[in-house]
Amino acid sequence: MMQTNNKKGLLFIISGPSGCGKGTVCNELLARNKELKLSISATTRDMRAGEQEGVTYFYITKEEFEKLIEENQLFEYNCGYSGKYYGTPKKYVFDNLDAGKDVILEIEMNGAAKVKEQYPDGILIFLAPPSLEELHSRLVGRGRESAELIAERFNEAKAELQRVDSYDYAVVNDNLIEAVEDIEAIIRAEKLKVKIMSHKVKDLIK
Ligand code: 5GP
Repeated sequence: MMQTNNKKGLLFIISGPSGCGKGTVCNELLARNKELKLSISATTRDMRAGEQEGVTYFYITKEEFEKLIEENQLFEYNCGYSGKYYGTPKKYVFDNLDAGKDVILEIEMNGAAKVKEQYPDGILIFLAPPSLEELHSRLVGRGRESAELIAERFNEAKAELQRVDSYDYAVVNDNLIEAVEDIEAIIRAEKLKVKIMSHKVKDLIK
């Protein structure tokens, strides 16, 4: 039987419909678990006040980004409404996994599917809103989009809820702390899988 490299970190892909609270949940998860690494995206957009190179994003030129695409160095990428590129570099994720660090990747659902396709060992966690009413009021409440865009996001989100079946775990984000604790429980359970623990147990009889 092929053994996975036990020293390698695990990749947790946290995704869900827009308005499900991915960002808030991931921030809290990372604040409570300093050993987790957050995957950092690359972008061609300008740095905004308060942002930091290599922390918020890796800021690169269009030419550099297109080279990454050509060289297949991105798990996925897209070109936003602004015409700017955003993508997930493989190198940062793999460097951390190889160093034994567990990586959190917060990403919208299409991106999540592309990452899982290329890295099937990635653990897909679906973050669901507690109800459609709550999802709608979160989309309105964040005040980022026009009424038209909110209606579009809301319809998209309803369709996205149907896609839960392709995920490994589902967490309902009703209460922030409970959602974070659920994700911590998933991480803990994944680390106790026999494919990870087997060598530790067998070391006992060496
Ligand atoms: P912002 O410019 O406000 O930081 O981000 C704009 C949008 O780009 C957000 O919706 C964000 O989720 C998306 N985005 C950021 N990084 C990535 C990435 O690596 N891949 C994809 N597909 N979208 C991203």
